[in-house]
Amino acid sequence: MDTQILKIASIFENPDELQQAADILARGGLVAFPTETVYGLGANGLDEEAVRSIYQAKGRPSDNPLILHIAKKEAIEQLTTGLNANAKKLMEHFWPGPLTLIVNKSAIVPDAVSAGLETVAVRFPSNKFAQDFIRACDCPIAAPSANISGRPSPTNAQDVLEDMQGKIAGMLDGGNCGIGLESTVVDTTSAVPTILRPGGITYEMLTEVMGAVEIDPALQGDKNFKPKAPGMKYRHYAPKASLTIVEGKTDAVVAKINELAAQEKQAGGCAG
Ligand code: AMP
Ligand code: MG
Repeated sequence: MDTQILKIASIFENPDELQQAADILARGGLVAFPTETVYGLGANGLDEEAVRSIYQAKGRPSDNPLILHIAKKEAIEQLTTGLNANAKKLMEHFWPGPLTLIVNKSAIVPDAVSAGLETVAVRFPSNKFAQDFIRACDCPIAAPSANISGRPSPTNAQDVLEDMQGKIAGMLDGGNCGIGLESTVVDTTSAVPTILRPGGITYEMLTEVMGAVEIDPALQGDKNFKPKAPGMKYRHYAPKASLTIVEGKTDAVVAKINELAAQEKQAGGCAG
């Protein structure tokens, strides 16, 4: 498969590129696109078959649900059976932005999105290209990060292509992502909002607005608990590089790091 690369500088300069990307998605194809966190790998979130092809392209375990991306707050209403006061307050303060909310899902959300759970993850990104793309598609976009599962999340078009060229129908190239860190996932279905994955919106930012906020005990290393976000049990951010931990006095550590970097350079790799 040829991956069509569509460069976009702004919606005013590139309405055709945006429309082409939306057309690919409408045909059931996968399109990578920038958000303020990382590049997403998007499919029509209401098209079960298209959503399934995301898992295939990424090699993503099928029990790891996806986030639905929307471009206006009201769009969450059709995806859920109802929003409680906590969910509404979080949306009010942090949307658009790097905060994903877990809510009870409605019947229109395909099982492939929620990996069979009764809840669904929803986010309204602040990145303008992401918003323009979602609007052009006129549907919620299911999108995990645009990398092969287990590898680092891409923050620019080149990194997306490294993992996805030939596997996806299109990519909107909108330059670098701002944050480079994934969205914070917060479960709003529990009595107290609970962080299931740390990310761009911090615990402090959340408590300032919400008062009490809990953290999934599994994130704090308690082996008696299974992570509530299925994705947290899998390996993340595994770059194709060796890692050496250097301990000792500062001078000795610096000398050793310089020595290792020189060896890497000679071998044609990248240090770090
Ligand atoms: P990503 O793989 O970067 O798209 O991140 C999505 C994260 O949200 C993963 O850790 C998923 O397991 C988690 N997630 C998505 N949907 C749900 C859900 N309904 N309940 C709990 N966690 C979810
Ligand atoms: Mg990811």
